[in-house]
Amino acid sequence: MFCPSWIELSESALRQNLRFLREQLGPDVTLCSVVKGNAYGHGIENFVPLAERCGVRQFAVFSADEAERCMRCHTEDSQVMIMGPVDGEALAWAIETGVSFFVHDLPRLAEAIATAQRVRRPALVHLELETGLNRTGIALEEQPQVAAMCQQASADVLVQGVCTHFAGAESVSNYLRIQQQLQRFATGVESLRGLGVDVSTRHTACSAAAFTYPESRLELVRVGIMQYGFWPSRETEMHHLLREGLESADRAANPLKRVMTWKSRVMGVKSVPPGEFVGYGTSYQTTRRERIAQIPVGYYHGFARNLSNLGHVLVRGRRAPVVGAVNMNMMMIDVTDLDGVQAGDEVVLIGRQKRNQITVSSFSELTRFLNYEVLVRLPAAIPRSVVA
Ligand SMILES: *Cc1c(COP(=O)(O)O)cnc(C)c1O
Repeated sequence: MFCPSWIELSESALRQNLRFLREQLGPDVTLCSVVKGNAYGHGIENFVPLAERCGVRQFAVFSADEAERCMRCHTEDSQVMIMGPVDGEALAWAIETGVSFFVHDLPRLAEAIATAQRVRRPALVHLELETGLNRTGIALEEQPQVAAMCQQASADVLVQGVCTHFAGAESVSNYLRIQQQLQRFATGVESLRGLGVDVSTRHTACSAAAFTYPESRLELVRVGIMQYGFWPSRETEMHHLLREGLESADRAANPLKRVMTWKSRVMGVKSVPPGEFVGYGTSYQTTRRERIAQIPVGYYHGFARNLSNLGHVLVRGRRAPVVGAVNMNMMMIDVTDLDGVQAGDEVVLIGRQKRNQITVSSFSELTRFLNYEVLVRLPAAIPRSVVA
């Protein structure tokens, strides 16, 4: 192991999360695993085969390069959909490989049809409808033309799905806007149906929508954050608890288990006399003789500099505070009150050690990064491995 830190993915945690999700979604809803952002920092190459072992057969990514990585590492007959950009060579590749993709406007549809005719394979498309996010999506007025193009090139374009995306389903403050989106989606689908388009697979829900607005589940849901063991927001979690009517005793048991643990090792420990500054600058001064341990992880590795004098790590099963500034490649922790800490001791940056744990949300609370952001900022270069 050459890297100063590493990430372990727990197969049992993922199995538990998927079991919970499937139980909640019921047998008629297909679960599509969202693995954009390097599988939310878990590593596409590690996560996709693991998820396949746990029964997942559908994956969604943002871009064609991520789809290509999925196609290289998958071990089952899984399907991959691209939710973001794909054009030119990438589009030809996607069509030839049978990777499906969102069509969010007329030029994309036209290019898809032309490319499909050139490579002599049908394009597998998901028609993305504009329902109020106002980011990407086909407007209601454009639907007749979309339908006509699809019918004219019916051998070259197969509609695999009709979809949309919500404008913040994790917050109740967007409630009315989401209701409006659901309505517009229903209208859009009816219109497409009337125009003779196959609307048998509808998908709108991300994790938060699937749990807060069950009517958004339809035939397929695109689940990202929850499969990795995180609630999209406290609100989504509370919504679920209240709907289930769970008693306070049951609330202690979160059905979602964190899949990821991020670890490193102590480089060394030194004794610093009272009244000394530690590390760059003067943000931390010892008040007594302190034992200060060095950890070879810094903001380059995804440990935010905002956690200077604020974050914690676990060593010997106890919490140790970060003292001084988080550097590019290192940080220091105070282990004065922890017995026997020495070079080589395992350090947990995210995850559990004995009876303590550092959660990803504790990072978010301290740095105002979203859960999502903390995860995807973990560099791809950190080695990942699967543990039981
Ligand atoms: C990221 C994303 C999702 C998954 O969102 P989660 O909140 O992680 O479940 C679903 N759909 C689209 C279009 C996305 O971009």
